[in-house]
Amino acid sequence: MIQLSRITKSFGRHEVLKGIDLNVGKGEVVAILGPSGSGKTTLLRCINFLERPSGGTVAIGEAKADGKHPSKKDIRELRLKSAMVFQHYNLFRHKTALENVMEGLVIVRKIPKEKARAKSVEVLEKVGLGAKIDAYPSQLSGGQQQRVGIARALALEPEVILFDEPTSALDPELVGEVLEVIRRIAKEGITMVVVTHEMGFARDVANRVVFMDEGAVIEEGDPREIFAKPKQERTKQFLKRIT
Ligand code: ATP
Repeated sequence: MIQLSRITKSFGRHEVLKGIDLNVGKGEVVAILGPSGSGKTTLLRCINFLERPSGGTVAIGEAKADGKHPSKKDIRELRLKSAMVFQHYNLFRHKTALENVMEGLVIVRKIPKEKARAKSVEVLEKVGLGAKIDAYPSQLSGGQQQRVGIARALALEPEVILFDEPTSALDPELVGEVLEVIRRIAKEGITMVVVTHEMGFARDVANRVVFMDEGAVIEEGDPREIFAKPKQERTKQFLKRIT
């Protein structure tokens, strides 16, 4: 479903991604782990060209774009395949939960308003916010705001959802409700890439974990095997620090 091939990314002289190859199969849930600054978020943002790679290619299904010289059409087609859930939710403050979810359907996907409204209500109910559709972000907890962010992604019916540290801005007591929603969606078979610091979640929900360090993938595999018996010294050290 997703094929990343030799992805590089530099900010000025700082090479943040050093030639990443990663394939994610349809329905697979891949968790990307690694120390702060290892390039996880940058890699995720390269998948939908929120960050333009310095080199390599990105493909999602039939859509494919060259990192260095993508055409606008290639980027557009790639973006139609995926939706992103951001660390800080990125909701419009002056729009209600319902309007936040409808926005992408009406403006980007050009879906008629009534149809967009029905779809938005459906996904908000799915994330447990059926009673909050008319609330503004300021009237919602962080966990609820993030669930609006997830509903917004689901409404687009993307082939892939990209999660960028979806719980790391939340107070600890609100993390569980968001992880539970993500866990439920994962069971429905949608392809997911999740950058996370939640090891328990990665262990329980991901089909595969990918460890990054200093802009490279250093180890990947089945979560149970990797958490129990990491092969690389850097993975061992990382796991020792955080578990
Ligand atoms: P964290 O777990 O702390 O979020 P990360 O593994 O997701 O870290 P990135 O956010 O991808 O790491 O950052 C990797 C490196 O790239 C860091 O050194 C960061 O400072 C740098 N970087 C990221 N975005 C930019 C940018 N827009 N301009 C310059 N440098 C950047």
